Amino acid sequence: MTPQDPIAALKSLIGEAHVVTAPADMAPHLVEWRDRYQGRALCVAKPGTTEEVAAVLAFADRHGHKIVPQGGNTGLVGGGIPFESGEEIVLSLSRLNRVRDVDALNNTLTVEAGVTLQRAQEVAAEADRLFPLSLASEGSAQIGGNLATNAGGTAVLRYGNARDLALGLEVVLADGRIWNGLSGLRKDNTGYDLKQIFIGAEGTLGIITAAVLKLYPRPKALATAVVALSDPEAAVALLRHLEGESGGLVTTFELIPRIGLDFVLAHAEGTRAPLAQRYDWYVLVELSAGRGERLDTLLEESLAGAVDQGLVADAAIAQTDTQRADFWALRENLSEVQKSEGGSIKHDVSVPVSALPAFIARACAAVEERMPGIRPVPFGHIGDGNVHFNLSQPTDMAKSEFLARWDEMSTLVHGIVVEMGGSISAEHGIGRMKRDEIAQLKQGPALEMMRAIKRALDPNNTLNPGKVVWPADGAKA
Ligand code: FAD
Repeated sequence: MTPQDPIAALKSLIGEAHVVTAPADMAPHLVEWRDRYQGRALCVAKPGTTEEVAAVLAFADRHGHKIVPQGGNTGLVGGGIPFESGEEIVLSLSRLNRVRDVDALNNTLTVEAGVTLQRAQEVAAEADRLFPLSLASEGSAQIGGNLATNAGGTAVLRYGNARDLALGLEVVLADGRIWNGLSGLRKDNTGYDLKQIFIGAEGTLGIITAAVLKLYPRPKALATAVVALSDPEAAVALLRHLEGESGGLVTTFELIPRIGLDFVLAHAEGTRAPLAQRYDWYVLVELSAGRGERLDTLLEESLAGAVDQGLVADAAIAQTDTQRADFWALRENLSEVQKSEGGSIKHDVSVPVSALPAFIARACAAVEERMPGIRPVPFGHIGDGNVHFNLSQPTDMAKSEFLARWDEMSTLVHGIVVEMGGSISAEHGIGRMKRDEIAQLKQGPALEMMRAIKRALDPNNTLNPGKVVWPADGAKA
């Protein structure tokens, strides 16, 4: 075994079958979901235990090999995709997929990083509990990836994002040491909260191999509606109205513009218009509570009050679970269907909730002025001030011509976001997509603190180099 023979070394560490080098088998690991980033790799290593992850990292760190961690590969900023050099090792966490413990009385679930989000939800449900993180990609996205990106999704309003849902972590450090921080404690003020350094770090500081997750009571009552409104301003006012009326039972509040609904109805099989008439804006609303709550009645009466206040134009409340699923399908297909409308330039941004209507109006006007015929599709987590400000290409423009203007349109949109005190990455992270932009935008000593943490935990720049932040000015992988 020599440093020059990393494939043989990795095979000896984790088994021949788990070091993938055949181009066809590596291919799915080298391209992201939207096809925006494609890379090359030395190999894809698939360790099966924390100790094997540790062995791979110790070897890589010692011999100067670079590691790109990868979970379900549903990330949207190129964080889990290697660069084009072909020298990096993709470290897939998929084989670390054991459920280690369910402690229903402590309301905790301990799983390995490669457990999919959907599986974690199912295991929680089997114990009559809820693991509330919820994303359209949950069938493939893994807990390790969710934590590494501090994922958000459709229930943040009520339960917080991934950062709020983890009590403890097990992490393999860059040099192969294992940190067992798998605490299930809700109170532990013994110094720095180390797990939070790794959450949202996108695999640049350590490899998350397992986590203790918070569980909640499983809602026994749900009420779901599609509500039509005149504008996003009415949506924000409606959110606060419903929260007040329900005493905080609003779990989901998702904005859907008319163009987005039209795309879904045109391209997603089996979807149906929720209301007889067409409106400019819609929200998907869900309330959840324990048994005995008359949530449908509560929602109906609250919406009637909102109609009286002129906030709501029309609404449909799901009468059956099938109808509830149909309503959810309108929201969950929104990302996917944009692919059928040609090129799509994406922005995952946030501003204070109160400023979101003004942001949408300003940003739509700005992009339409810059590129007549462009089709803005602002949708998503309006209750968190987070909108996916996506732009579909003009129908008469070539896709490549449109996508070539990605940076120009992003600069325009992000400029407005920053002016309004917002964030250019609300929930998807930085990856390689926004690394240079964030370096410009971080104020005061923020960037230097980030670099200092990176250098302290990964002095050889072994972990996901070139993602999120360079360790020093002018540094390269
Ligand atoms: P990957 O894509 O594999 O990796 C993401 C990043 O984490 C990479 O930088 C990778 O290196 C790192 N990483 C992965 N695993 C580990 C680990 N074990 N340890 C250390 N680092 C690791 N995101 C949201 O927040 N909210 C949404 O509502 C949402 N909706 C989506 C809908 C669709 C249709 C799609 C395709 C994506 C959506 N996403 C959303 C983005 C994506 O699903 C999330 O970022 C998700 O958390 C990524 O998980 P993953 O396992 O696929 O990670």
